[in-house]
Amino acid sequence: MRALVFNKNLTYTNDYPAPVPAKGEALIRVTHAGICNTDLEIIRGYMGFQGVPGHEFVGIVEECDSKSMIGRRVVGEINISCGSCPECLKNLGNHCRKRSVLGILHKDGIFAEYATLPVNNLHKLPVEVSDEEAVFIEPLAAAFEILEQVSINASHNVCVLGDGKMGILVAQVLSTTGCDLLVSGHHREKLSILDEMDIKTARKEQLPGARFDIVVDCAGSRTGIETALNIVRPGGTVVVKTTVAKKGHVDLNKVVVNEITLTGSRCGPFPAAIKAIKAGSVDLSPLISRRFPLNEGVRAFHYASDRNSLKVVVDI
Ligand SMILES: [Zn+2]
Ligand SMILES: [Zn+2]
Repeated sequence: MRALVFNKNLTYTNDYPAPVPAKGEALIRVTHAGICNTDLEIIRGYMGFQGVPGHEFVGIVEECDSKSMIGRRVVGEINISCGSCPECLKNLGNHCRKRSVLGILHKDGIFAEYATLPVNNLHKLPVEVSDEEAVFIEPLAAAFEILEQVSINASHNVCVLGDGKMGILVAQVLSTTGCDLLVSGHHREKLSILDEMDIKTARKEQLPGARFDIVVDCAGSRTGIETALNIVRPGGTVVVKTTVAKKGHVDLNKVVVNEITLTGSRCGPFPAAIKAIKAGSVDLSPLISRRFPLNEGVRAFHYASDRNSLKVVVDI
C-alpha cells in the first residue's frame, strides 16, 4: 500500500505491507489525516518511533467482526490498552503499562492507505461533522481533557501559552467555561484568528508581571513551562500540554516556593469533541493551512514544520 514511513528519515513508498487486523480490530481505509506537532517531534526522534507515523485521521471501516461498523465513517482513539493491567483495571486505559499508541509507540499509524485499531477505540461520525473537521477530533479531545482535570469557571483568569494548533483549540474549549481568558503567542496571523473569535490575545513580551490562576502550556517548546511558572499566581495551576523530543533543564524551585500544582495533560474524551463540533461551538476552518496528497507527504511535513503554518491535512 501507499504510505509515509519514518526510519531515520521520512519517505514515501507505494510498497508498504498493508496491516492485518488482529482479533477485535477493524481494518480502516484512511481518507484524511492531520499532521500534529507530535508527528513533527517523532521525525526529530521523539519516542524513538519507526514505521508509519500519524494518529489524527478519519476513515471508513472496511473489515471487522461487528458487521454494523462496516462502511461506517469513523475516527479512533489512539491508545491501545491491554484491559487487564493495574492501570486498565482502574479505568486508566490511556496509561496501560502494556499499551501501544497509534503512530507513536509500537503501532503503525495513519499516513497510509490502511490502518488497524480495536473496534472499541472507534467512534462513528454524525453527518454534521465534515471530514476536515473530523481530522481535529483527536487534538480537540486532548483540549477537552483539561476540563476533565482542572475545574475552570467564570471566576478564573486563565492564560494559554502558544498560538499554534493546540493553543487555538485549547483556547476555544476554555472559552466555553466563561473564564477570563488570554492567549499569548508571537505569530500575528495566528493571534488574529483568535481576535476574530473575540478571544483576548497578547504578545509574549506583554506577559511579565501578570498573575494567572491557571496557565496552560501549549507553547510547543521547552521554554513554555518556564514562562508558565513565572506567570502563574502562588497556589495556581500549570497544565502542561507540550511534548518535545529535546530534553531540557527546568527549574522547579518556583513549584515548591509558590506551591504550584503541575498537571500533565495528554489524550481526552472523543465524545465531548464530536459533540462540540456538531453543536458548532468550535470553529475549525481557520485552522487548516494547506492540504497535500499522500504522495507529497514529505513536502507536507516540511510545510507543517514552518512556524507560521497551522494544521496540514493529508488527503490519502
Ligand atoms: Zn496529535
Ligand atoms: Zn493495560
